[in-house]
Amino acid sequence: MVGGGCAGMAAALVLQQALAPRLRTGDAEITVVEPQPYLTYHPLLAEVAAGSIDPRHVVVPLRKVLPHCRVLTARITRIDHAGRTAQVDTAPRGAAAEPAELAYDHLILTPGSVSRTDPVPGLADHGLGFGSVGEAVALRNHVLEQLDLASSTRDPELRQAALTFLFVGAGYAGVGALAELEDMARYAVRGYHNLTADDLRWVLVEATDRILPQESADLAAHTLAELRERSIDVHLGTTLESAVDRVMALSDGSRFAARTLVWTAGVRPAPLLRDTDLPLDPTGRVRCLPTLQVRGPGGTPLAGAWAAGDCAAVPDPAADGALCAPNAQHALAQARLLAENLLADLDHGALAAYRPERIHCSTSLGLGRAVAHTRRGRLTGRRAWWLHRARHLRRLPSLDRRVRVFTDWLLGGLFSREVVSLGTVEHPRAEFESGFLERP
Ligand SMILES: Cc1cc2nc3c(=O)[nH]c(=O)nc-3n(C[C@H](O)[C@H](O)[C@H](O)COP(=O)(O)OP(=O)(O)OC[C@H]3O[C@@H](n4cnc5c(N)ncnc54)[C@H](O)[C@@H]3O)c2cc1C
Repeated sequence: MVGGGCAGMAAALVLQQALAPRLRTGDAEITVVEPQPYLTYHPLLAEVAAGSIDPRHVVVPLRKVLPHCRVLTARITRIDHAGRTAQVDTAPRGAAAEPAELAYDHLILTPGSVSRTDPVPGLADHGLGFGSVGEAVALRNHVLEQLDLASSTRDPELRQAALTFLFVGAGYAGVGALAELEDMARYAVRGYHNLTADDLRWVLVEATDRILPQESADLAAHTLAELRERSIDVHLGTTLESAVDRVMALSDGSRFAARTLVWTAGVRPAPLLRDTDLPLDPTGRVRCLPTLQVRGPGGTPLAGAWAAGDCAAVPDPAADGALCAPNAQHALAQARLLAENLLADLDHGALAAYRPERIHCSTSLGLGRAVAHTRRGRLTGRRAWWLHRARHLRRLPSLDRRVRVFTDWLLGGLFSREVVSLGTVEHPRAEFESGFLERP
């Protein structure tokens, strides 16, 4: 299994349970290869950035929940499916590669997607990403540091730049992070003698003419209205042209200084897929049949190759020939079916086609605020927020994590928000190293 994210873990859990007797006797073996020793539950990252959830509670340790699988903290770098081998690199990031070869009978591909970056001048120097727990914690500290800076400086231009926050890309990551952080900052400024919520400027830039492309147009339009109601400056059909010297130049002619630039402009399939002999569609995803088998020549299944989640181009029966959108709900539902079909295939049984139940979407927009779709229609405000939390609590893999996240929410409800920046934890050696620079 390549990748231990949403889809990888969901498939591994089903296989581990169904194959338990054979795993114990050694008749079967499941190897999960994942560079991180944990799954990251991305839909709750924005709440980590806002301080509503402890960062450790949105990750699920793979070895703890998959005790009967062999978990390798490593990266697959090449797949030769014709020869049924994969190259695995166990070296730490940045070190010289230490490739080894893994042989397999069945390949389950779930390496997800990675952020798409554009060659915008200044972006590499000043941009922040938002796709991992580390980035969520760093962004939270950064935003709180800007409030400290703005409150302390006597330079009006620096103050204005510190209080201006630009997010590029209005998918799940951009909208969720912006809405949660805006809500947190609005609360945090109450503690400063010389800052008010009106001093903060939040800008969202999106290249297309809508936000949340993975969601229904109706839910997206409603979310947009809610953001604008909160005075968030949303520029649709606009791109970031330059961020040199922290001066943001947009394609609609706007220019302003901002010390916060968050880049969440879409995703592309995991780069590994290009280093395989598997068929890819024009967007770089693995072509799949509705049974989640990789599609071979002439539309027949490619024996022993399966894929699910963001990396897989799976027909969506609800969308008239279109492909499933890259979201957590499809990833989880596809992964469970993939595992069931693989088990059926081992027993020479019939395979089922992917027919997800109606996907119910929701987006959290801060404490007590959300928009959600239900069977009966659309919900907004506090009721949508409760529903959103209940849905994610149910989807979060592992009971242990559900209880921890629930406890975080409960404590957040009992006490006020925690809004202190712990930016120093990102540079733990700085203080120690400065001791060597002092004169004896
Ligand atoms: C910030 C953010 C917020 C989101 N919010 C929502 C939301 O509210 N609702 C929703 O439905 N969806 C949301 N999504 C999307 C959702 O998280 C993804 O669609 C889902 O995680 C896809 O699952 P996956 O298993 O395909 O990929 P992932 O969960 O990303 O897992 C892929 C795994 O593969 C591993 N991997 C990559 N390359 C290799 C390799 N070469 N070798 C081995 N392992 C590899 C990665 O380390 C990763 O752990 C959000 C995404 C982000 C980033």
